This record gives sequence, C-alpha cells and structure tokens, in this order.
Amino acid sequence: MRGTEIDRAYIRHAIEAADLNAVRMTLYQNTGDPDLAALPLQLDDGQREWLIEKALSWLEENAGPHSLPEPPEAELRRLMNMATGEEIGDLEFEARREQAAFRKFPFLVDWVGEKPRIPDDVSVAIIGGGFSGIVMAVQCELLGMPYIVLERRAEFGGTWNINRYPDVRVDTLSSTYEFSFEKSYRWSEYFARGEEVRSYLDHVASKFGVRANTRFSHDLKCAAFDENRDLWRLEVDTPDGLQTLEAKVVVSATGLFANPKLIEFEGDDRFKGRIIHPARWPEDLSLEGKRVAIIGNGSTGIQMAGAIAKDAEQTYVFQRTPQWIMPREKYGRPVEPEIHWLLDNFPGYWNWSRYLAGAALFDTHALVTTDRDWQAGGGQVNQGNDALRKDLTEYIKNETGGRQDLIDRLIPDYAPFSRRPVVDNGWYRALTQDDVELITHPIVRLTKSGIETADGTVHEVDVIVTATGFEVVKYLHPGRFIGRDGIDIHEAWEGTDGPRAWIGMMVPRFPNFFMLYGPNSQPVSSGPSQVTWFTVWSAFVGRCLKRMLTDGVSRIEVTQDAYASYNEALDEEAAKLVMMTKEGGIEKNYYVNNEHGRVQVNAPWYGPVFQQMFSNVDWDALEMTAKTEAASASE
Ligand code: NAP
Repeated sequence: MRGTEIDRAYIRHAIEAADLNAVRMTLYQNTGDPDLAALPLQLDDGQREWLIEKALSWLEENAGPHSLPEPPEAELRRLMNMATGEEIGDLEFEARREQAAFRKFPFLVDWVGEKPRIPDDVSVAIIGGGFSGIVMAVQCELLGMPYIVLERRAEFGGTWNINRYPDVRVDTLSSTYEFSFEKSYRWSEYFARGEEVRSYLDHVASKFGVRANTRFSHDLKCAAFDENRDLWRLEVDTPDGLQTLEAKVVVSATGLFANPKLIEFEGDDRFKGRIIHPARWPEDLSLEGKRVAIIGNGSTGIQMAGAIAKDAEQTYVFQRTPQWIMPREKYGRPVEPEIHWLLDNFPGYWNWSRYLAGAALFDTHALVTTDRDWQAGGGQVNQGNDALRKDLTEYIKNETGGRQDLIDRLIPDYAPFSRRPVVDNGWYRALTQDDVELITHPIVRLTKSGIETADGTVHEVDVIVTATGFEVVKYLHPGRFIGRDGIDIHEAWEGTDGPRAWIGMMVPRFPNFFMLYGPNSQPVSSGPSQVTWFTVWSAFVGRCLKRMLTDGVSRIEVTQDAYASYNEALDEEAAKLVMMTKEGGIEKNYYVNNEHGRVQVNAPWYGPVFQQMFSNVDWDALEMTAKTEAASASE
C-alpha cells in the first residue's frame, strides 16, 4: 500500500479488525498447525491473543499476494466442518463446497475437454443487464456460446440502476452479495452503497467480456416461439426503431423488482406537492427545509428514512403494518484499509471470510417453519423464532429509548420471518427525533396540501415518498412471451392461480425459455446469498445448453406432468411456512399472492435440497427434441 508502512502494529490492527474464525481457518490451511484446529469457535481472551500473535508472526514472514488452490475434496470437507464446528452432511457439503470459491468460476459449468463446435443457429438472448443477466452472460462466455444481452436502460445495474433514493445500499454483507468469480474487488463499505454496486457490475461486465455483447437501450417488447424453426423471434424497441432479432434460447433476467407499485390514493390529483416512488427518484430533488411523508416501511422505506429526516424540516413516517427490523453489525461502516491489506496479502482469507459470512444463513430453515410440538408446549412458532422475537422486541425497546407511545405501535403481532427481514438503518432512532413523527392511523385520502388520516388529521407536506414496493406478481411484465400454440404466458397464468413455473425457471409450452428469479424461486432460507442463487440458476441453463449442443437438441421444454407434480409438492411444502399460518399473518405480504392465498415469490424448500434441483438436473422432467443441423437447414 503506497505511503503506508506495513509494520507489526499495522498487521495487528488488520487481524484485530478481521473475522477471527476466518483468520484461524486461513492460517490452518496455510500451516496445518493442529493447535489451530483444536481452538473452539468462541475464543476466550487468552486464546484470542494466542491466535492473533500466531497469525501476526506468520504474516510477517509470509504475507504476499498469492491465492490458494482448492483443497482435495476430503480436505475441503474437513475444513468446512472445522469452519462451523459441525459435521456437515453430503447434501450440505455439495451445496456449500463452492462457497469458499477456490475454483476460478465457482458454481458455473464448463466443458470437460475440448469445447465443441457451436452450430451457427444456436445463440442465447439474455433479457436484462442486472446481476442475474451478467452472470448468465459469464456462463455463456465460459461455454463459448454466442449470446446477446438486451438491456432497456443505458447502463448495467437492473434494480441497482433504478433505485437511487437516499442512502440506498446493500443490506446483506457485500462480501456475500458479489460474484464468486471476481476475486479481487475491494468494497469500500461492508454494505456497499447503490452507486458502488453499479460500478461493480460495470467493472465485472467489462472484465468478463459481457459489455461487448450487450445492447443498451434495447427494450424487449415481445418474444414469440417459431415452432417451425425452433427459435425465438424477438421484437425489440431500439434507438433505431423496432427491430426483430432471433435466438435459439431466451433467458429472462428481468428480476423481481423491475416494476414499481404505484398506489393510487383518493385525491392524488389534487395534491399540490410532489409524489415520488423511490425507484423513480429525481436526481435534482432537494429535501432541505421540506415537509416529507414516507409511506411504507419495507426495506426501502426503512433504509431511506434516516437520510431523509436529516435533510427535511419535518418527516412523517406512515406505517400500515409494523415490521420486524433487525440490526446488522458493521452496517454503514467503511472497510478498513487494514482489511483490504489482509484480503490482498493473506492467501485464503478472502475465501474463508466470504464462506463464514454466508454461514450465518446455513441453518435458518428451522426458523421459518412451524414446530407443532413446540406450539403444543405453549410456544408461538418454534424455539429459534420465538427467541428471535424476544430479542427483536428488546431491540425495539432499546432503540426507542423506552418510549411506550412508539413501542406499542412498533411491535408486530405476527412472527419474524413471515416476511422478508428488514434491516435497521437507524429507523427506530430517527422516530425518536423531534422532527420525525410516526403515524399509524390509516390514510384516507390526499388533500391539496397533505395526507388526511382516519382520525381526521391532515398532515401538511410538500413531498410524498411512496415506498410501497414493487409489482412482484407481474413476472416478466411488460414483455410479452408467446410460446407454442400461440399461448401468451400472462394469459396462461391469469387463467390459473397466478404465475408458476417448474423449479422457478421453466413453463410448459415455452421451449428454450428460462427465467432467472421466476415464480417461487427465492429460497426462503438456508442457502447462499441471492447473487449465488443467480449463479446457480445460470449454471442450470448452462447444463441445458450443454445438453442441447452435445445431443443436437433443438427444443427443450418442461413436461406438463413434471410442472404439475412439482407445483403440487411445492404447495404442500409451502403450507409449512410460518408466513402461511395465522402466526405469520399472511395477508398483505408480497411473498404471498393475496388474491390466490398462496406463496408466490419463495421456494419453500430447505436450501441445499433446492440447490440440488439445479446441479443434479432431473432430465426426465424435460422433453427434448433433437433436430439435426441438416434438417433445420432444409426447412
Ligand atoms: P415492500 O417490502 O413491499 O414494502 C412496501 C411497504 O409499503 C409496506 O410497508 C407496505 O405496507 C406499504 N404499503 C403498500 N401499499 C400501501 C398502501 N396502499 N397504503 C399504505 N402503505 C402501503 O417494498 P420495498 O420496501 O420496496 O421492498 C421490496 C424488496 O426490495 C425488499 O423486500 C427487498 O427484497 C428489496 N430491497 C432490498 C434492499 C437492499 O438490499 N438494500 C433495499 C430495499 C429493497 P404493508 O406492510 O401494510 O403492506
């Protein structure tokens, strides 16, 4: 590091700021010292100091920018057991073995041996240039598949491009919310701001060749499957007018949060101020000296409130339903330069720190399902969930300084994990400020000058921020997808109980079509981060592409039977989730399709089981039609 002396004191600071369990694992992998393996996960002061000294001495001698190779399978498993202090099963080992990311392209698939010749008529169109579109493109790069990314905006980023509201940032650790194949990105904060996430995606897209295959300002209007030629014809709105493109395979990577939910309140045409959805935040907006209302307390409303309250003269927070809101260690904090040094110079530390950062989610499945025995003994949901509820209740009391008027309205009457966990960005503290008011009376209408609530009060405001979420039920919207027999995917779904898919990705009568983040695909628990899931799903498409190429398959489609039986099993599994029980208070939760009373966003499976569905493909569920190149050429 230029200008910084890397002496003993500096290295000590680095180790002290680090995840000590990751330090232990890294040192052990480098030295094989059995005393390190014998250390418990919870260190006492003496053990802590011993470990720091040991790492310090090793780094003084050996620090340097090299990486470690992936250990042989048995050794890797032993290390993984040691990292979390438990013997993991085969299923968990398979699911997590790539998490430490020693391989160059973890989770993704490559050819074994020589790459085959790719026929001229085989190409992939990826719709969307956010996280999932980019990793899908990298998967195509690895396989040597010709592909194109169609992005309707002028930049990469997807939801991170759309959302530019005050203090927008990642609310899971950046070290888990990143691609496992980019090993040297230096996040400046533990929870990166939106702007940095956009730069990151831009960087990855350039580094891995995606940019060259991306067409910006290309908005897919309609995709129709041509049954005679087994390919998709895409109508795309471009800066040069409407164009038609063709692709053998289409992958929708349009995400879940592409369409803001814009609520129409009575009287909104009368209101003289501005109404703004966070996903359409005006660049030039200053809130200084303004009176601002924030409607909604999901992840977005909670994240922005503190920053808004800092600028605004008066802030009104409108809460319809209380949320369980959790603190996160190191939220809002910069990554120390010493940690960057450690990541660069302690071989294996990057791997183990990301593995252990993700380990916090390994065992969460038990929290989201009800335990009948526990309930029979008087418990509310299950032991872990009830304990969390108690802790979070205490947290509310502490953060509000014991203000009973707030506490009474802030504690939810449903169980944690019935909804997407929300992260506290100083929201409770902000509510205690003199210039911030929590309003829980229902909104009746907007007036010329503000918001009228059911108690008859008009709250006078200049700006209303509607942090009311996204139209998650409108998968793929507004693009049209027309499959075999002229069937439109939205019409097909509308005639049933809403959008469904097989393993969240495929729909019968839509051959050669895959969705990343499709219906019922967001794992409810026990798995890697969302970005890793995008990688896992892209690898599934990669496996199908490989099969198409090696077996001369021209059409790949999920069978009606597989789709139906998968969804039947899914409904059965989903019924066990706390969000679907009275303890979860199922109504008004975007995970749930309220119209049809069923889970629509989540995959209810235990994470490693769900992951297996992508890595160990059930080929019997897929109908594959072979067509030789010669045959297609003659048509
Ligand atoms: P959301 O979770 O759907 O929350 C919407 C909020 O608006 C809720 O508080 C809801 O109240 C309220 N609301 C909706 N309609 C209303 C109405 N007619 N009147 C009054 N209130 C109304 O949406 P979100 O906060 O935008 O979050 C969506 C997802 O985006 C998150 O779950 C997360 O996955 C993602 N996200 C991530 C980050 C991050 O990582 N940094 C940040 C933001 C968002 P009810 O609860 O009563 O329905």
